[in-house]
Amino acid sequence: MRKNTKTRVVIIGAGQAGLAMSYLLKKEKMDHVVLEKKKLGSSWRNQRWDSFHLVTPNWQNQLPGFHYVGDRPDEFMSKNEIINYLELYQAKYSLPIFSNKEVLKVTRNGYQSFEVQTQNKIYHARAVVVATGSFYQPYVGEQSRDLPQTVLQLHSSKYRNARRLPPGSVLVVGSGQSGFQIASELNSSGRKVFLSVGSSYWIPRSYRGKDISYWMTQLGVTDLRKKVLGASSEKIFFSSPIISHRGGGAKRLSLDGVTLLGRFENCIGNRLNFSDNLESSFAESGMFFVHVTRLIDRFIEKQQLKAPESTAVADELLLSLKVPKLTEVDLLKQSISTVIWATGFKPNYSWIDLPVFDQAKTPIYHRGVTQVEGFYFLGLHRLYTLKSGSLFGVGEDAAFILKNIKSYFRVQKIIKTSNRMSCRKNSLVS
Ligand SMILES: Cc1cc2nc3c(=O)[nH]c(=O)nc-3n(C[C@H](O)[C@H](O)[C@H](O)COP(=O)(O)OP(=O)(O)OC[C@H]3O[C@@H](n4cnc5c(N)ncnc54)[C@H](O)[C@@H]3O)c2cc1C
Repeated sequence: MRKNTKTRVVIIGAGQAGLAMSYLLKKEKMDHVVLEKKKLGSSWRNQRWDSFHLVTPNWQNQLPGFHYVGDRPDEFMSKNEIINYLELYQAKYSLPIFSNKEVLKVTRNGYQSFEVQTQNKIYHARAVVVATGSFYQPYVGEQSRDLPQTVLQLHSSKYRNARRLPPGSVLVVGSGQSGFQIASELNSSGRKVFLSVGSSYWIPRSYRGKDISYWMTQLGVTDLRKKVLGASSEKIFFSSPIISHRGGGAKRLSLDGVTLLGRFENCIGNRLNFSDNLESSFAESGMFFVHVTRLIDRFIEKQQLKAPESTAVADELLLSLKVPKLTEVDLLKQSISTVIWATGFKPNYSWIDLPVFDQAKTPIYHRGVTQVEGFYFLGLHRLYTLKSGSLFGVGEDAAFILKNIKSYFRVQKIIKTSNRMSCRKNSLVS
């Protein structure tokens, strides 16, 4: 038998989003619990490789009530430092996190309450905030089935370090932040690395004396909203162009010795086939790079800022670099023993039994507020703005949801009071 417990708000997931929401509710003295499947910060603990570092600088770690105040604002936190940052946040404000409490089902129970079920408890809450992250189930394409069994295949979330892989060359499929960083690390460890590039957009690490994160914030890029994207460059910003620690995109890796390939198509026998998309992809990313630097130049000019002259010379050399065209690779001849799928994640909301999804099971909301009163999503990638899913932006979205929860509770209270009054009136009349 499951025990029944009452609380005003249940937050599901104890990553940065769940903690930020909990902090704001606690500040309002609002009774709530945070239910966590594993342990606080478990995505950082279990889904990132050993040498992982954020690509956003420390000054952008701005969880509400816990902005970064250390003496390294321009450096980048390692995986352990992020976990530590989240643990300190929880400890400082005694946030009510319950570990090893996977939520198995959420349903509505009458007008005023939700039922949140775990293995041994049912929580009855008036509001629920889902903060289970965007990077939920590792996604690997169907082509993975074509590869011979002798090849070790793993998703980027399972990669830890080069030493754990069998000897031999490695193919990394996917050139987002994960694929890019893993390919770079494996290459530095002395492995022969092949990188299959989907999109190759990238922006410089720093430009005209400042880190790119500073410029992106100043230019309002971090506040871009999906619904109002205008120019195609804004759409590209939304597709997460690469920002690496050393600067440079996939072509930097090519200079370092990584073999670049187009999109992974299939594997026939021992032959890996790739699209011929590299040249056009680099042409587009080159134009985007130039566009970004021009945006910054224009901003500096308009604001009459003092900034050193353009520092993009090394990057411009990269832009003109020609990459050899290669559409086939023989697994055996190249001694490829491992394929790492850095192909992203898929959500899974099968445990939410509420009308808050479209046909593709994608949540429908405005700034995280759904059509089911009292039910919210927080922390999702691009939930409202470009920065929504980051340590920089989640606080703002959490504050918006708090405002909604408060006004929802106020309305509930008014309805309850007027119902009570009309009941009293009716009983007097009868
Ligand atoms: C490779 C990579 C690099 C990134 N780099 C940066 C960066 O440089 N800077 C930056 O700001 N952001 C970065 N991010 C984005 C973002 O900061 C992280 O994805 C972050 O983990 C999101 O926090 P979250 O709280 O929304 O979700 P998560 O951290 O994923 O937390 C969700 C929690 O919910 C729990 N959970 C899931 N299902 C249930 C359930 N049914 N019941 C109970 N609990 C459940 C999980 O165990 C988990 O602990 C990166 C993301 C990735 C994948």
